[in-house]
Amino acid sequence: MIEVTGLTKRYGKKTAVDNLTFTVRRGEIVGFLGPNGAGKSTTMNMLTGYIAPTVGTVYINGYNLMDAPEQAKESVGYLPEIPPLYMDMTVNEYLNFVFGIKKCKFPRREHLNEVCEVVRISHVRHRMIRNLSKGYRQRVGLAQALINDPKILILDEPTVGLDPKEIVEIRNLIQKLGQTRTVILSSHVLSEIQSVCERVIIVNEGHLVADALTEDLARSAAANSRYAVRIAAPQDQVVPVLSAIPGMLKVELQGSMEPGTVDVMIEADKDVDIRRALFEECAKRGWYILVITPVGVSLEDIFLKLVDPSSIRPEGEPLTLDQATPEESAKEDDAQ
Ligand code: ADP
Repeated sequence: MIEVTGLTKRYGKKTAVDNLTFTVRRGEIVGFLGPNGAGKSTTMNMLTGYIAPTVGTVYINGYNLMDAPEQAKESVGYLPEIPPLYMDMTVNEYLNFVFGIKKCKFPRREHLNEVCEVVRISHVRHRMIRNLSKGYRQRVGLAQALINDPKILILDEPTVGLDPKEIVEIRNLIQKLGQTRTVILSSHVLSEIQSVCERVIIVNEGHLVADALTEDLARSAAANSRYAVRIAAPQDQVVPVLSAIPGMLKVELQGSMEPGTVDVMIEADKDVDIRRALFEECAKRGWYILVITPVGVSLEDIFLKLVDPSSIRPEGEPLTLDQATPEESAKEDDAQ
């Protein structure tokens, strides 16, 4: 449905988007993930024909966006990062205005009623846009994207600046819209992509660094089991003794938070319940396990690994999931 090949955008010497190639199939909900400045908005703007690529092609529904822009754009609804709203219009005036611009062929009244119903703004149609909350403005932004019933929705950071309740509502709405449409959603929040998208494309500094099913990324994150453990034991013996337990992959000394104890982070093969062997080994030596806490690995860990500039990878080659081994430390969740 969307085919992007070698998409590149340069601003003078700055390459904002560098040689992106990916396809999005009919009905997919794809997350476009990357830190601020990664090139997400630039890509969205090229996918929707707002700006022209320096190099590369975009095909939408079989139409080349450069050669046949009208046909290509017909099936796309776009919600830019800053929704193109006119604050001095009422919701009704604005949606009628967009209806006209899009040269929408559907019966006007029914179509606008339906769109307002879907995004639940029917009760604010007579209000000025400037008087609406951010969440409602975003719904109006979604409404304008839905006019003309596009089969593809491109949403750029649709929940930025919203409060937590609004975020949940907009995410639910996107999921609902995604049941009958292809959706590309950009975000710098991993949990958003996790909760909404089946597939995730990760970009950093204009490069594609991963393209995978969200589920596979999550599974790869849980590849091994990890625990934070506090043991009352002699510090110098803990690492060698625990490292010798069958199935143990890694033992890292974290320090000592209580006198006479040692904190370690252990990582074991997921097929082994390392807790039993750990208990036996400690009991045998008269050591006490005071704390054992499972440490989950989030997509954040993988993401940080993928975009870590110090990650060693061949020049220009995207990281594969196999290389995306989880980082040791639990990283701060940047989700809301
Ligand atoms: P994101 O949406 O992921 O935050 P952007 O696509 O907005 O990233 O920006 C990618 C990079 O391109 C940034 O370094 C940004 O400063 C640069 N950039 C974006 N638009 C322009 C422009 N019109 N002129 C010059 N540089 C730009």
